[in-house]
Amino acid sequence: MWIDTHCHFDVAEFDPDRDLVAQQAWSAGVQAIAVIAYLAEYWPQLLSVCKSIKQPTLLPVLGLHPCYIAQHQTEHLEQLEVCLQQNQCIAVGEIGLDTYIADIKQPELYQKQQCFFAAQLDLAKQYAKPVVLHVRKAHADVFKILRQHEFNEGGIIHAFSGGIEEAKMYAKLGFKLGIGGSLTYEQAKRLHNVVAAMPIESLVIETDAPDMIPQPYRNPNAHYTRNSPAYLPCIAQALATSKQMTLEQLAPILWQNSCQALHLSLQSNGFI
Ligand SMILES: [Zn+2]
Repeated sequence: MWIDTHCHFDVAEFDPDRDLVAQQAWSAGVQAIAVIAYLAEYWPQLLSVCKSIKQPTLLPVLGLHPCYIAQHQTEHLEQLEVCLQQNQCIAVGEIGLDTYIADIKQPELYQKQQCFFAAQLDLAKQYAKPVVLHVRKAHADVFKILRQHEFNEGGIIHAFSGGIEEAKMYAKLGFKLGIGGSLTYEQAKRLHNVVAAMPIESLVIETDAPDMIPQPYRNPNAHYTRNSPAYLPCIAQALATSKQMTLEQLAPILWQNSCQALHLSLQSNGFI
């Protein structure tokens, strides 16, 4: 009954027990997981992971992440086009702009970020695919580029970190906001305000596993605690509480929102 709209299920952290984690996610009601790429060299591994697991349904999303901008090459854009021609992914991501990290904010690299973002938007548009966006401290430039490139396929603003005005602007541009583990943290006041202010039709949920562990699974004594797509219901519960809805009311709406955002026609086998 749930779709994890953002998970890095292909990464090495899941190599030792990926089948088990997939089973745990399935048992927790997670029927589909969007597996999001970040570097071209890992796309083949991502695609093979997506083929190797049947439950939940794994949905490949291919793209070049702005935080790895120094490593991206023009030929990777050509590879992305080949993948799109062969319909190997359901969406393009994660792509976008990031000026939070000092290194990639410097003019030359930020220019390159904008070029790669624009080029990937154009490819998504050409092949009628939605996009999964990573945006940190760069909303104004993202709005500008989305408009300049007349991008109308929609998608998801992953781990949304903006304010209410920005949230409304994305909704107007046809995007859903990805809500993750941050919502389980009481101190994330801004996110709680955004979630309260936005209609449920504008929201989807995501784990961003192995990162962004939800509060109830956090072990303050452990050096590193891996997040899992099996923890998605905990985010659904935080959202249900915030919107004063039951999980049964929330599930079909989020399912529909996710399908709309990612251009999917998936049937849920759950109780919805
Ligand atoms: Zn991510």
